[in-house]
Amino acid sequence: MSLLATGLADTARFRAFGPRHIDEIADRYGLPDDVRETVRNIARVLPFRVNDYVLSEMIDWKRIPEDPMFQLVFPQHGMLTEQDERALAGLAARAEDKDALRTLVRQIRGRLNPHPSGQRQLNVPVHRGEPLPGSQHKYRETVLYFPSQGQTCHAYCTYCFRWAQFVGDADLRFAAPHPGRLVEYLDDHPDVSDVLITGGDPMVMSTERLRSHIEPLLTVGSVRTIRIGTKSVAYWPQRFVTDPDADDVLRLFEQVLASGRNLVVMAHFSHPCELRTEIARRAISRIRSTGALVYCQAPLIARVNDDEAAWSELWRAQHAAGAVPYYLFVERDTGPHDYFKVPLDRAVEIFQAAYRTLPGLARTVRGPVMSATCGKVAVDGIEETPQGRFFQLRMLQARDPALVGRPFRAYADPAAAWIDDLRLDPSTPADIAAAVAGPARPPTADPIRSSERSGQ
Ligand code: SF4
Repeated sequence: MSLLATGLADTARFRAFGPRHIDEIADRYGLPDDVRETVRNIARVLPFRVNDYVLSEMIDWKRIPEDPMFQLVFPQHGMLTEQDERALAGLAARAEDKDALRTLVRQIRGRLNPHPSGQRQLNVPVHRGEPLPGSQHKYRETVLYFPSQGQTCHAYCTYCFRWAQFVGDADLRFAAPHPGRLVEYLDDHPDVSDVLITGGDPMVMSTERLRSHIEPLLTVGSVRTIRIGTKSVAYWPQRFVTDPDADDVLRLFEQVLASGRNLVVMAHFSHPCELRTEIARRAISRIRSTGALVYCQAPLIARVNDDEAAWSELWRAQHAAGAVPYYLFVERDTGPHDYFKVPLDRAVEIFQAAYRTLPGLARTVRGPVMSATCGKVAVDGIEETPQGRFFQLRMLQARDPALVGRPFRAYADPAAAWIDDLRLDPSTPADIAAAVAGPARPPTADPIRSSERSGQ
């Protein structure tokens, strides 16, 4: 059904639905009882949040549970082990077992690798002897900034590598209420040219709140690009079109550009249906009318977008809308990774087949890329040699700038789905092998603290 037919685009006010609303959603969209109970059960462990636009415009309810957008936002059977699913359901059925249920939920979350790539241990910068709250500094030129009011999203992706923060993870404590100390840090680090404002999704903030985080960054002369990481164009394009402060946010973007800086919206699109609505394309058009750029990225996810045709349509739609296809990521090893993972072999095949369909100007996209502890590693292809089959790898980005751009290779194990599964060619240069092996991580005793505090 089109937006014009439903009138949703013109009248909608944002409303989030979470675990408490499963019955309401089930009644409205005809969710079968077994699916309803599965969603309820898995949502005890994994975050669940959706909104009217995603429910009414994105999901084909005749195709559930296989529908890719249903898989993207609704917790599914198979995301946890059979044993955990059964244990959760059993404890939830007995009111007297509430404490045991809470303990089990915390244990299951702890087993789902809630902090991949050493984000907490390795990326938090130190400023004048103290950790800098709400920031990560992994690559020399770019700092990530997490405003505390932007640590939720218009809907949650079941594959999100930051899923843990939506269920009460202690990472939220590092989000910053304002950028005061970050500005001091940036003044001391003139190599940083780019600040990526991220979350959650910064576009859940009102324009005035967003302005309070962006304007101080414009006082730092060495900051040349403000990036905003967001899935709002896919999950709530009304943010740029019909929300009460939609025009104000465009004026804010213009203000950044008038300061002589770039403003880049790093848009997350998982499936081509997210660009089939008129309002999503209008959102991109309005963002671009300010002079801002739109770069697009998403991971490759089994059951959501693991086919060539989906990526070909998605990238061509982005290009047609004036956006730049940028990254196809490999899904990180966290959360229900076994449910979503795509072997690297297949990822290369999908990327190359879709890439070949693109016009030259849309071949801006890179992939498959693993955003790993050592940096961003591209899988450029597969090489058959007398010594065996190898993945051709390249460091697109690295903590150590001396590694950037350098090729290396690893045995092409058909089951490998992440960099940790790879065995490097023995002739790999020592500095690259050491970076890929990564630093020893301190053990984490209780990775999800305060799990009772719900982020939904
Ligand atoms: S929009 Fe981004 S941060 Fe939010 S749930 Fe999805 S992947 Fe995670």
